[in-house]
Amino acid sequence: MMPSFTPLYGAPTRPRDTSGVIKFTNCLLVKGNNLVKEDLWVSSISGKILNGQEILYEHRTAPEEIVDLGGRILSPGLIDTQLNGAYGFDFSVIPEEGTVAYSKGVLRVNRNLVATGVTSYLPTLTSQHPEVYQKALQYLGPSGTARDAAHGSESLGAHCEGPFLNPTKNGIHNATVLQAPINGLPDLAACYGSTNLQFPSPIKLITLAPERPGALPSIRALTERGIHVSIGHSEASYEEAKAGIKAGASMITHLFNAMRPLHHRNPGIFGLLGTASSWVRKPYFGIIADGIHLHPTSIKIAWNAHPDGLILVTDAMRLAGMPDGTYDWTNGSRIVKDGALLTLEENGKIAGSSIQLVDCVTNFLNWTGASVPEALKAVTETPAKMLGLGDMKGTLKEGADADLVVLDLQEVVGGDKKLVVDEVWKFGMKVFARAEN
Ligand SMILES: [Zn+2]
Repeated sequence: MMPSFTPLYGAPTRPRDTSGVIKFTNCLLVKGNNLVKEDLWVSSISGKILNGQEILYEHRTAPEEIVDLGGRILSPGLIDTQLNGAYGFDFSVIPEEGTVAYSKGVLRVNRNLVATGVTSYLPTLTSQHPEVYQKALQYLGPSGTARDAAHGSESLGAHCEGPFLNPTKNGIHNATVLQAPINGLPDLAACYGSTNLQFPSPIKLITLAPERPGALPSIRALTERGIHVSIGHSEASYEEAKAGIKAGASMITHLFNAMRPLHHRNPGIFGLLGTASSWVRKPYFGIIADGIHLHPTSIKIAWNAHPDGLILVTDAMRLAGMPDGTYDWTNGSRIVKDGALLTLEENGKIAGSSIQLVDCVTNFLNWTGASVPEALKAVTETPAKMLGLGDMKGTLKEGADADLVVLDLQEVVGGDKKLVVDEVWKFGMKVFARAEN
């Protein structure tokens, strides 16, 4: 049973006896690496992007609604592949009240998150005991099947970051719950639950350390089941990382963080970005552009090495949007929040982020000199392709889901740029409009 709720921005409704065709005009569409002055046609009935030429000239259908965007940018909705929680809710914690409270918490995140421009995402679990996965995963699987805009942001499936990680690179993960998948698939099944590894799995992405015993056959077993694998929280040498890619891993989790740094005689995981050959492909890689986890120049180097692989992620956790202070964390330790900076009280280690994805795009724009469409690609087209959803999400192509963000490109003090989310559309329905509009 889904609990009832109040939609964020009124109830998205439409009259029943109408075409449901909407034309966006006077806008700049994000298409590849370009901004193109073109109209976009969508259907509020199918929730998909339409072929405007066909609608107009073959079916002679006039739009039911024309939305004049006044020259603003119209982008595919943003996709965050690493979000641990927000608005006081943590995907890794089953509340004392039980799983009903958990499912309500997930819905609350979805309805609030969509207003930030993130129209789909991977709810992310940090390393946990098996019981947590086996309770939580049933609520974190793909949630868009009803194609109901009132549900808010859509889960594309869970991201399990752990627990098959290297204890020496645990970061904020509780080292006592980390495991090695020594026996491969049976160990994965014992941890996540065997039904959760069967098609259709609620899990979309698993981060693991390829150097751990049994990791390579585990990667093969997961990718055979359509679950994507990302390398992270790892001591892997360049050779070990390359073996992970050959086994089927296709991504690196938060590049540079929780892994060995580049060494000129052993380039480590970062070295994969310099690998181009017919037998091992360059992986996608997550980047936390929050001004705390990484130096802007490191981001620029990674982007230059593999521009089509860069995926901006927030890695945000439940304290996002909460006041500064010291908060209890899941493992009995505590986290200090000072502005955007979150650290573990006991050792000062970086403990996650509280940034919004659109602000990561703004940082990326200002730090790298990327164009607006190049920066937006890192939160739309590239993550969609990584997840094998390139025809459905992260694109304005005909037939894709009409998940859209209207962005205002502002100039701020010092000549920097800033992207502001003005409107959000989900499945062809407007679900958010900024108050100052
Ligand atoms: Zn991590």
